Amino acid sequence: MNVYDSERMAETMAVAGYSVGCSEKDADLIVLNTCHIREKATEKIYSELGRLKPLKLSNPSLRVAVAGCVAQAEGEEIIARQPLVDIVVGPQSYHQLPELVSKAEQGRKSVATDFLADEKFERLPKAALPRKSPTAFLTVQEGCDKFCTFCVVPYTRGAEYSRPAARIVAEAAQLADRGVREITLLGQNVNAYHGEGVDGRQWGLAALIRAIADIGGIERIRYTTSHPSDMSGDLIEAHASCAKLMPYLHLPVQSGSDKILKAMNRKHTSGQYLRLIESIRRARPDILISGDFIVGFPGETESDFEDTLRLVDEIGYGQSYSFRYSPRPGTPAAERVQIPPDVASERLRKLQLLLKKHQRAAQDSMVGRVATVLFERRGRQEGQLAGKSEYLQAVHVDCDEKKLGEIAEVRIIRSEPNSLAGELVN
Ligand code: SAH
Ligand code: SF4
Repeated sequence: MNVYDSERMAETMAVAGYSVGCSEKDADLIVLNTCHIREKATEKIYSELGRLKPLKLSNPSLRVAVAGCVAQAEGEEIIARQPLVDIVVGPQSYHQLPELVSKAEQGRKSVATDFLADEKFERLPKAALPRKSPTAFLTVQEGCDKFCTFCVVPYTRGAEYSRPAARIVAEAAQLADRGVREITLLGQNVNAYHGEGVDGRQWGLAALIRAIADIGGIERIRYTTSHPSDMSGDLIEAHASCAKLMPYLHLPVQSGSDKILKAMNRKHTSGQYLRLIESIRRARPDILISGDFIVGFPGETESDFEDTLRLVDEIGYGQSYSFRYSPRPGTPAAERVQIPPDVASERLRKLQLLLKKHQRAAQDSMVGRVATVLFERRGRQEGQLAGKSEYLQAVHVDCDEKKLGEIAEVRIIRSEPNSLAGELVN
């Protein structure tokens, strides 16, 4: 979502007469768009800001803004800790960036952290900058009301908000006109989408997907990130009947232990999750399942951790993201007795080894098969294009550059550590 937000900020500033620069040295304004989900991401911001200090000293007219969830969470604390910062702007206020920048040009610092989600989307300009990629993100929903005990999202992104479908469909049509072939619908809890439909009724995510599938030029639709409890029958059915909805689903589970799931306030058991995956696979047998995992959550015993390993083996994730639990300020789990860091690190190592094995197996099973690949950019080597299969696997192919932005059938010939090699069919 930060990629989408950064694009919107660049477009807002383009309307105000700025253009995207190519080096920090020549910039009049540097915006750091930040993530607060884990401590590591947050701490990175301060080292980045320190790095900008000599630049600011040599160019006093340079303005520095901190945007995103760290801005939301830490507010003026950021300016107190690093006075070179001129603007702190939260994820629901960044449409105000031009005003904040012109204030900063007059030497006035500002902190904007109001929750103005509906106003933000109303005011954001679209299509102000050329598009380089045939894929695009599109935010349909923001915020979260679930309050998992480890997570800062409900505090930084605010309450759940769904954009009206008509606006989303219009934005998708505009993207199609600008050469976009694949859209990934975004939300912190995207499958909880419940916006006003084009027909005036309330729509769920499945109805929205079907409406976007009707747009000429849009060939592929994805969505992320979903919560297991919001995986409706209608959405599962869309995986069976909507050909443009890609066979890939990121459905985080976090842990395989019912005790830990309860302590995380995830609102489902491991058994319910397994049955859910079964019904999704009945609807779309070839679907590739991806997941998120947290190890070392407070109270996690060796046996809880083994439940997670067992669940991973049962599901067979084709892709995954796994993290050591990071206590976040203001969240309930941060107050609990913590697992020793070396124990958590060892569990993460073991889990990642297993996840890697499953990811590699899913990738290797593609060898000899024909995948459909959307070519997104030039490959690392001369005469090569790189793109994604329908299962979101990276694929590189020797072929003519003219195919950039197109979807082609590709026979997979080799599975490499993090990508597939293929050749054009015909
Ligand atoms: N809405 C999604 C997840 C959004 S956050 C869901 O409910 O599943 C993205 C991922 O970051 C989470 O799935 C989780 O695995 C990880 N994460 C969030 N908070 C974390 C924390 N405090 N420590 C470690 N990982 C965390
Ligand atoms: Fe965070 Fe996802 Fe839980 Fe919401 S549902 S609190 S975004 S982990």
